[in-house]
Amino acid sequence: MPIDPTLPYDPNNIFAKILRGEIPCKKVYEDDFSLAFHDIAPQAKLHVLVIPKGAYVSWDDFSAKASETEIAGFIRAVGHVARDLGLVAPGYRLLANVGQDGGQEVPHLHVHLFGGEPLGRMIG
Ligand code: IMP
Repeated sequence: MPIDPTLPYDPNNIFAKILRGEIPCKKVYEDDFSLAFHDIAPQAKLHVLVIPKGAYVSWDDFSAKASETEIAGFIRAVGHVARDLGLVAPGYRLLANVGQDGGQEVPHLHVHLFGGEPLGRMIG
């Protein structure tokens, strides 16, 4: 069920629980600003989610409210994960769903990183 990204942050969402260590994840990377883990229902051969550690509902919330340090840290973390996973040369895809029309279901900002196989063109 897509979420309303204008609602206040829900500290009981599943990614908040993963960040607090209350439920497990298959971690691939962690630093001061970000955590990356395998998606539980992969939509590509490799499907990783990268999330900021701060309490941000969506890309909109994050881009409006996060500090420059958090934003830079998060963007660097996404690039770091892709490099660590050896995806730079073959290529990969990044996606962030936002709200109802975007089909966002978990109300904590996450960037999907897809790769490990040819993904086809989404646009054009
Ligand atoms: P959204 O539709 O962009 O919000 O994507 C949410 C993603 O979170 C989906 O791809 C789900 O498969 C994934 N997901 C939901 N719960 C978990 C979990 O507990 N661990 C890892 N991934 C999850």
